[in-house]
Amino acid sequence: MIDLTTLTIAEASAKLATKEYSAVGLARAYKDAINDKNAELNVYLEVFDDIEEQALAADARRAQDEKDGKTSHPLLGIPLAIKDNILIEGRRASAASKMLENYTAAYDATAIRKLKEAGVVFLGRTNMDEFAMGGSTENSAFGPTKNPHDTSRVAGGSSGGSAAAVAANLALASLGSDTGGSIREPASFCGMVGLKPTYGAVSRSGLMAMGSSLDQIGPFAKNVTDAQMLFDAIAGLDPLDSTSVDLATYTTQPQNKTIGVPRDLLKEGVDSDVLAQFEQSLDALRAQGYKVVDVSIPSASLALAVYYVIMPAEVSSNLARFDGVRYGLSVKGENLIDDYATTREIGFGPEVRRRIMLGTYVLSSGYYDAYYGKATIARTQLAREVAAALDGIDVIATPTAPCPATRLGEKSDPLAMYLLDIFTVTANLTGNPAISIPMGTVDRDGNQLPVGLQLTAAHGAEATLFEVAKAFEQ
Ligand code: GLN
Repeated sequence: MIDLTTLTIAEASAKLATKEYSAVGLARAYKDAINDKNAELNVYLEVFDDIEEQALAADARRAQDEKDGKTSHPLLGIPLAIKDNILIEGRRASAASKMLENYTAAYDATAIRKLKEAGVVFLGRTNMDEFAMGGSTENSAFGPTKNPHDTSRVAGGSSGGSAAAVAANLALASLGSDTGGSIREPASFCGMVGLKPTYGAVSRSGLMAMGSSLDQIGPFAKNVTDAQMLFDAIAGLDPLDSTSVDLATYTTQPQNKTIGVPRDLLKEGVDSDVLAQFEQSLDALRAQGYKVVDVSIPSASLALAVYYVIMPAEVSSNLARFDGVRYGLSVKGENLIDDYATTREIGFGPEVRRRIMLGTYVLSSGYYDAYYGKATIARTQLAREVAAALDGIDVIATPTAPCPATRLGEKSDPLAMYLLDIFTVTANLTGNPAISIPMGTVDRDGNQLPVGLQLTAAHGAEATLFEVAKAFEQ
């Protein structure tokens, strides 16, 4: 019996190498766990039917590597879950939408191609908020994912399935996407490590676009080392994404073991026990030799408003492609215009339609200057302030979210849901890398619910993030 509850990528990789078990054995263990628990948690929208064949191929490749005297890739045979908005050639990719329920991906996302080259085993595609719009996975057209720590609560979102998959030991690690916090917030709610890389560090080719200037693919894992292993495997310049960057082009400043805290942001709206955990986390970092200083990011209080103008603007143009002609669902109306309208009315859920309308409004000629124009100016200012705050320190620390996982249905008011993103959207607007790591638990109705610590570093300074996060893990 393989104990999946404590298993990490690093450990599985070592045991596969020494033949303590095979990739097939490992894959079977995950299949059994999925059969056991997926119906209750609704983590996977689809469990792939060729898991054992993939694992068999991984074992064969290891044997061949051995014959050739080659060291196998550390991810060879590692079972992963993939968010349903990342394309895997020949497989469904629905973005948890009725619009793409029967859509089959025509090519691999670059991140997937790299993982295939490494020889990972794909277990299935995970549930999410429709087109990644949401913070709880309740906007999925296929029902919400439940939080493994308390099934009356949400797993977070939009990558809720990918976070819960790892938390419930239904995958060893997973990929999600983060446009305004969709990796970090569910990582916080499920007690996992989640990384939103520097904008451009991971190619967006093959990731269904939500907000193109904000979107990044990133890993979920049980610890920082695993997250780093996955990040290393998927990062890199890609000719298929003109916004991708080679991280080596960033000159990062030497580290000086200093953590900045934007105290002004923590004054209201954060649950007191979350704040208490945050203060304890700072103490833990002090014990590791870090200095904690105050930093000021005056425009951070505007970040949420700026995000909820820029994001819907990009959503409205990105989702224009779903017209009933080119992709997925196609519903016949009275005439061509009616075909478009009927397809979109039936194919999109309420949150997606709300954002398309908001975005169309803020981009309309009468309101562009007042909303979209202003938001882009504030975004530039915010980026300047974050860069200034990071000057001379290693990372900025905040809680990842103001509260632990909320009850299913608790945030039915969209504005209340948007407020959960208060700490996460800044890194997407500015392009900085940010990580969420577990910082303990808080009690809700007698259940211990995980909460996360968010660290943000300078562009390209993922190495700094990993280093501070590992010091904290200890
Ligand atoms: N919760 C945020 C939103 O609803 C973030 C979404 C995301 O990162 N994909 O927009």
